[in-house]
Amino acid sequence: MTAQLDLATVLLLHKSSFLVGALCFLYLRWQSPRNEGLGILAAGFLFLALASTLAGYGEQKLLPAFLWTLSSFTLGLGGYALFWIGLRRLSGQSRRRADWLALAIPLTGAVVGLITHFHVVNYARASAFNSGAFLFLAASAFAVVSDRKGEPLPVRTIFAASLTIGAMLCLVVVVGLLRPAVVPITTTYAFFLLIISHFAIALFALVLVKERAEAALRRTADTDMLTGVGNRRWFLSQLPRLGWKDDALAVMDLDFFKRVNDRFGHQAGDQVLIAFAELVRANLRATDCFARLGGEEFGLYLPKTNEVQAQAIVERLRLATEQLHVRFDGQRVALSVSIGVVVGRGVENSWEELFSMADAALYQAKDAGRNRVIAYAPRQDSFAIDISTARTG
Ligand code: GH3
Ligand code: MG
Ligand code: MG
Repeated sequence: MTAQLDLATVLLLHKSSFLVGALCFLYLRWQSPRNEGLGILAAGFLFLALASTLAGYGEQKLLPAFLWTLSSFTLGLGGYALFWIGLRRLSGQSRRRADWLALAIPLTGAVVGLITHFHVVNYARASAFNSGAFLFLAASAFAVVSDRKGEPLPVRTIFAASLTIGAMLCLVVVVGLLRPAVVPITTTYAFFLLIISHFAIALFALVLVKERAEAALRRTADTDMLTGVGNRRWFLSQLPRLGWKDDALAVMDLDFFKRVNDRFGHQAGDQVLIAFAELVRANLRATDCFARLGGEEFGLYLPKTNEVQAQAIVERLRLATEQLHVRFDGQRVALSVSIGVVVGRGVENSWEELFSMADAALYQAKDAGRNRVIAYAPRQDSFAIDISTARTG
């Protein structure tokens, strides 16, 4: 296919790929202004398009050789430096001032060029430029992958792969210039592949922004806005449909919460809900799921937890709630929680059954005077196991 492509056409497409990429980044910046780095990415691609244009004019002898070689080299390498700065910001969503130091590389290249005139030698300029491009693209790929821990978006793998391919193609161009016999593809073909990788990079940046927006939407849909913990919708989505075996479910309801609102005001009530959610969240294992089911009722799913462990966990939470110090207008808000807990015993338990058992145990705890944990006891078909022996209130 590339046999029909002459170098001039490929170089024109090369320049166009930067322009399309820059337009894509500018559009994204306009539509998703909260994403850091898109403006810098657009500037990077525009620098590269400008460098490519100057090189084109130079090849047509429209500019003095010294001028076009130095300016296209500096602008091009500056473009890749800006690309790396922008991509680090886009990927990590943080502004790192030290990154601007990357611009020292093209500037140093320009100064060295002014002193040594190395840039007028085609292969020296092209190999220095493509080596720099290789470094910036490889570093960009690394940034996209290493930020996966903080934000595991699926597109990161393929995005990093396209950046790595771009980096490798720059390396191929360098090796092709220095040792043509070693490289199995022509420079024209390498440029053609680079064009495709530029389009891919712009496309995957777009997908990254889209996946980030979707993840934010999902988080909003799954999060209780007051307490920041999961909401009922999320909680139910985390529960196994069937086959509850040594998995525990607890339903927790704050006692006499209406009185807190009546006495201290709704805002104080909100603060109590936030403090309680924070307390529970801080006391759970990574695998446990905790959510606000509504009002002052919370759900707790403890996977792979037997009865003894589950009861110990929720009893500890009950005691910690008693000790919770929430102050409002200089007064301490007294707080306690009633908890109904149940542990699945076999495949017949669906989450609906487990929920009604935990709810029934919770009502039993309320009836028995509140501030206690009641474990649902299926064998006796009663809820009479009050495990709150260490009540202090
Ligand atoms: P019990 O011990 O029987 O659970 O009594 P209670 O007062 O806790 O229960 P009740 O259902 O009578 O009252 C729950 C109160 O929780 C009533 C409602 O105004 C309050 N509430 C529900 N959601 C919120 C909220 O988001 N913020 C505040 N501040 N209060 C809320
Ligand atoms: Mg209540
Ligand atoms: Mg309630």
